[in-house]
Amino acid sequence: MYRTKNCGELRMQHVGEQVTLAGWVQTVRKFGSITFSDLRDRYGITQLYFNELLNSQLDSTPIGREYVLQVTGKVVERSNKNNKIPTGEVEVEVASFKILNAAEVPPFTIEENTDGGDELRMKYRYLDLRRPTLRRNLELRYKVNRSVRNYLDTLGFWDIETPFLIKSTPEGARDFVVPSRMNQGQFYALPQSPQTFKQLLMVSGYDRYYQVVKCFRDEDLRADRQPEFTQVDCEMSFVEQEDILNTFEGLFKHVFKDVKGVDITYAFPRITFDDAMWHYGNDKPDIRFEMKIQNLKVDGAVNCLTIAQAIGGFKVFDEAETILAICVPGASEYTRKQTDEITEWAKRPQIGMTGVINIKCNNDGTFKSTVDKFFSAEQQAEIAAFCGAGKGDLILLLAGKETRTRKAMSELRLEMGNRLGLRNHDDYKPLWVIDFPLFEYDEDGNRWVARHHPFTSPKPEHIELMNDLSRYGEIKANAYDIVLNGTEIGGGSIRIFQRHLQEKMFAALGMSKEEAQEKFGFLMGAFEYGAPPHGGIAFGFDRLCALLGGQESIRDFIAFPKNNSGRDVMLDAPSAIDEAQMKELGLK
Ligand code: ASP
Repeated sequence: MYRTKNCGELRMQHVGEQVTLAGWVQTVRKFGSITFSDLRDRYGITQLYFNELLNSQLDSTPIGREYVLQVTGKVVERSNKNNKIPTGEVEVEVASFKILNAAEVPPFTIEENTDGGDELRMKYRYLDLRRPTLRRNLELRYKVNRSVRNYLDTLGFWDIETPFLIKSTPEGARDFVVPSRMNQGQFYALPQSPQTFKQLLMVSGYDRYYQVVKCFRDEDLRADRQPEFTQVDCEMSFVEQEDILNTFEGLFKHVFKDVKGVDITYAFPRITFDDAMWHYGNDKPDIRFEMKIQNLKVDGAVNCLTIAQAIGGFKVFDEAETILAICVPGASEYTRKQTDEITEWAKRPQIGMTGVINIKCNNDGTFKSTVDKFFSAEQQAEIAAFCGAGKGDLILLLAGKETRTRKAMSELRLEMGNRLGLRNHDDYKPLWVIDFPLFEYDEDGNRWVARHHPFTSPKPEHIELMNDLSRYGEIKANAYDIVLNGTEIGGGSIRIFQRHLQEKMFAALGMSKEEAQEKFGFLMGAFEYGAPPHGGIAFGFDRLCALLGGQESIRDFIAFPKNNSGRDVMLDAPSAIDEAQMKELGLK
């Protein structure tokens, strides 16, 4: 037997017991003729005490960091207790020890905070994973996984596997492809999601499906994405949008409670896509704080009359397509330096504005703004009233082209939320965004594309509009996203389940009948054999875990992730394959 207890187990109640532990040497501290060492495993850390006698043994067979050690000895009460760790009241007085395996000096410190850079830690990921931070993250991931499965299991969902070697499913990204040896010159694609399979399972009558499943998308890896990532993928039959939202709201409440002890007792707020864009400037609003966007002028239409009545005209406003504002609570006393900082922030190329106008609503009822020349005190008061600003608020205004200004204002709102400390990691504020547009215009490709995916059903009352290209932008879908703290963590839709509507959809996307048949004949064929109404959703599992772990990066919640260039630096993949393998696959 290698051990009788693990390194996180011993307490005062074990004092006097003989135990055997096995683990990794975290530290070795020599004090004259005695030595202390911390032994670590997945469960914790236990202090070891080597007396004088054993010390001479340590002299002839020294131990070092990350050595794998087995020790036997007696549990004793520590004179110098450490209340920071659960085993801190006791230590093991070593009677004998055995080095099970020696270790090279690790390239970085295996501690909560390491001195190892990103690339180095990725190369030695197996060492990085020994660090308590990552160990906790993977434990959390496991618990979220278990919690999701338990919830879905009680509702009768079945976990059904779907293939990885498939034909391309368009979900907006590029496919990873795999050459076929047996069918030379032909390729499989790795699934971007199991979308069509889960729909086919509904046609087969399986009613409730889920899978915690890898998905593969060959995208440029901006902003913390992984080429392979995990989804909790779900589908249900005989459901309407309301059923799906309720079922999965329940899932989230269950997971929050189970994993974080957070009780969300209220119904998640629901907001339409249009309202989200109007009030927050994006489709994944962070509602941990208010500071909603005020729409003074939009697409040339003036909502706040005062701004069109500037003294002598104010070119910046007159020429702007759109003017938006936010009221930053309690910021009227910002110094010139602070407001300049905000302006500099907005001028960065990522934000792309030429400036930020501000109006300070002073506590004494007066106003001070960067446009005092153009607006009288009364006019500033009117603008403040339009914006709902109170005494002590700072109004920030952006003006320019609609799309860019709205995007910039959305960012500015988040930035001010950060500066005011209103975006706390432990404050969970989920919501549903509903009524997404069915299509979106792809400026680069000069065509309409599916906003979610082509299997998403338009709202029945909007099907008619599909006959009129000029009205595509008005068509809404039965599609929804779940958003947590400004991050989209899942999305889904009610599906098309009739061949004629699916054909109409492919045609709307500019696909010829032949192309649609060639690519999706299998699905449309299935719809002819009694497809039930159905719908579903999928969650980004990595991101959900990161959010529950209070962190930004999904990478630290994946055991073996890829770096920003899509490389596994530990394996050194992707890499070339040899000539023989190429030949076998019929590749040049
Ligand atoms: N397959 C979709 C996705 O990956 C989710 C869904 O519609 O259920 O985004």
